[in-house]
Amino acid sequence: ENFKDYKLSSDILKSIEILNYKRPTKVQEKVIPIGLKGKDIVVKSQTGSGKTAAFAIPVCELVDWEENRPQALVITPTRELAMQVREDFFNIGRFKRLKVVPVYGRAPFYNQQRELKQKTHVVVGTPGRIIDHIDKGTLDISMIKYLIIDEADEMFNMGFLEQIETIIDKLPIERMTMLFSATLPTDIESLCNRYMTNPTYIEI
Ligand code: AMP
Repeated sequence: ENFKDYKLSSDILKSIEILNYKRPTKVQEKVIPIGLKGKDIVVKSQTGSGKTAAFAIPVCELVDWEENRPQALVITPTRELAMQVREDFFNIGRFKRLKVVPVYGRAPFYNQQRELKQKTHVVVGTPGRIIDHIDKGTLDISMIKYLIIDEADEMFNMGFLEQIETIIDKLPIERMTMLFSATLPTDIESLCNRYMTNPTYIEI
């Protein structure tokens, strides 16, 4: 397969070319077409498989540039992963001029608040800080249409599952949800059953 086989705009194809991604990885082949249709997906795959671009490509494509409020929310277990995911979104969305804001703990709240005040398309962050921003009214989630839960098993191991549920309970019901995890213990499966609609299960 080739990235040109998907219905991607020239802005997104151009950034994929500059990243020098010649062809989609296995996880991308499976996830991108379903993601572009806006359907819920549960993906069991390891890091290093190209999973970040697998969700970033369809989300960057689907996001409406004109909308000022955030449309996509990515939840990650660590600030390091949040920074990595932010960079991938930035690279894939660069020609579409997408604004991606990272929010994580152990960093000044005010700087993030100031960034979130400007037009923002995608927010990437860790659970605790995302909740802080929602509660303080500095992150407007009323237009979130795309939710990505990355490395769900890591978040489960770190005891973040309850916080993730708190976040999801506040989000608009009409949305696409994608969950990525290296393993699928029963707690994560039940989270998927509760918060997703007929998800497609993909195992790499
Ligand atoms: P990830 O699994 O998202 O951590 O990605 C692992 C690495 O693969 C990252 O350095 C990506 O930049 C790279 N990558 C992702 N997709 C592709 C692709 N289609 N072709 C070549 N490299 C890729």
